[in-house]
Amino acid sequence: MSIVEQYRTKVKELLSSGQVKMVIGYGAGTTPDRRRPLFMRSPEDADKMLLDNACIANLSGYLVSEGLLSDEKRVAIMLRPEGVRSINILAAESQLKAEQIVIVGFDTAGEELRAIEGSEAKDFCALIDSLKESAPLQAPDPLFERIVQMSPQERFNYWQEEFSKCIKCYACRQSCPMCYCRRCIVDSNQPQWINTSSHTLGNFEWNIVRAFHLAGRCVACGNCDRSCPVNIPLRFINRRMGMEVLEVFDHFPGMSESQEPVLASFKKDDPETFIL
Ligand code: SF4
Ligand code: SF4
Repeated sequence: MSIVEQYRTKVKELLSSGQVKMVIGYGAGTTPDRRRPLFMRSPEDADKMLLDNACIANLSGYLVSEGLLSDEKRVAIMLRPEGVRSINILAAESQLKAEQIVIVGFDTAGEELRAIEGSEAKDFCALIDSLKESAPLQAPDPLFERIVQMSPQERFNYWQEEFSKCIKCYACRQSCPMCYCRRCIVDSNQPQWINTSSHTLGNFEWNIVRAFHLAGRCVACGNCDRSCPVNIPLRFINRRMGMEVLEVFDHFPGMSESQEPVLASFKKDDPETFIL
């Protein structure tokens, strides 16, 4: 049986046995190399499900759609390891209960599609541990290395130029599983914290504010980067922030549902004077 047939069988079992009310997976996209989310509610829906190396989007953001989990019924979702990490973060931030989510895990690392064992986020601890160990050795990228080598002024100029292309479409925010606020700070106009028009200062504010909100929370799924219509290399900002957070706080986001969010935790004996 091919791997996609194995997964279709698994999905049909989950739905026909009533273990879950829905399975979120991948279906055909608008072109042969694209996939779009598929919301399967009956066993027959599984026949439309696809699984291959084009299934790269992190679908976990759909779990926090308003009302989806409010009936306490379980929902299954197809996830790569970074998606499992986002489930842990969403649970740690009280956005969902991890036990309500059934994970249908797979991986495409090294271009090879393979199944990964486990059905709940806690079953993937060893796998996520190994990702933390290899995190400092992330795939080298010539552009990333070039940005790291720049002087602070050169880097500022580089990002200012990149951000000047931003059209404030907010596709990066909409596609990010960690950007779940019902009302984003950029949508607030009383007071208006960030200018909504697409100009250099407002663009810079928007992208830097978003980067800070993702510090210690980004799981490097790449949804934001792939969705940006003007190809701003957003992945490098988040990657750099992730490296800093790992180095300074030994924090690798999404290790477990009990992991405290790095920017929302403090120690009473912290030597900094702002902790009173
Ligand atoms: S910031 Fe981008 S890479 Fe990080 S979790 Fe959000 S969508 Fe994924
Ligand atoms: S997806 Fe790209 S263009 Fe759209 S708001 Fe984000 S950075 Fe700007």
